[in-house]
Amino acid sequence: MLIKSSWIYLILTIALTACSGSSTTSLVTTAPPMTTSTLPKIMTQVATPIPSLTSTPSPTSTPSPSLTPTPTWAIVGPGLVDIPILLYHHVHPDPPSLNYWVDVDIFEDQMQALSQRGYHTITPTQLRQAILQGLQLPPKTVIITFDDGNQDNYEYAFPIMQKYGFIGAIYIVANRLSAEGFLSAEQLQELAAAGWEIGSHSMTHTDLADVAANKLREEILDSRLRLEREIGVEVRSFAYPFGSFVSALGSKVENYGYWTAMGLGKKTLHDLNTIYYLDRLTIYGTMTLGEFEALLDGSTKI
Ligand SMILES: [Zn+2]
Repeated sequence: MLIKSSWIYLILTIALTACSGSSTTSLVTTAPPMTTSTLPKIMTQVATPIPSLTSTPSPTSTPSPSLTPTPTWAIVGPGLVDIPILLYHHVHPDPPSLNYWVDVDIFEDQMQALSQRGYHTITPTQLRQAILQGLQLPPKTVIITFDDGNQDNYEYAFPIMQKYGFIGAIYIVANRLSAEGFLSAEQLQELAAAGWEIGSHSMTHTDLADVAANKLREEILDSRLRLEREIGVEVRSFAYPFGSFVSALGSKVENYGYWTAMGLGKKTLHDLNTIYYLDRLTIYGTMTLGEFEALLDGSTKI
């Protein structure tokens, strides 16, 4: 599903080989390369929040054996990469008939379909790494995200994803951390230890396109710092509440120390121009398995 002609591939390969990352990283200046030595100390308190696909799994994770690279893996990026990003909200055994609630059996069917089709999961930070530097990945890669930090994500979605060796990214509203119905710091530490990326979904889940400028620092930066302090993991990905966006927000999010930011949309192609508004495919509770698979196959290409 990689969109590249052979000559583009050749050029990218040469570029990747020729440069040590300095020319690509200069395009985005706020994020350091993801090496263990540059990770802040806070990350060492909880096992490997940003896992390498080739690293030794942490003791609490149940990784898929197929995470070991095989000859079918190839360098994806740098530049344009084609990776669908899925967005869930609730996964529940007795869901109300609301758009954002997915029945747990349907969710399991979807995860099984991904597994049977050979999909592997990565984190948003690994997507950034692919865009900036290139990353060795399997032929089919997907990112599975959850917004709002709902308790049922941990209770129902997490064990199913563990079963298939999948990791996810979860976006937490900072002032809802440990509130009734929402995940606790301890539960998020467990997700992080299993390889999940923990992101911020703002401080209060307000529409940032509509908020006073002097509130943006609290919503974007302070939420990140609070989540890092209370959970003890590094927070480098942001999800805009309601997917609401104006162009000035992208640079704010970047300046406040994020490496990626999630929005809503239908595109599966991502590059440096979209790294602070990455389209995600919303999974609705009414979606059939056929519609789910069609979404993966037929998403709009840019
Ligand atoms: Zn939300």
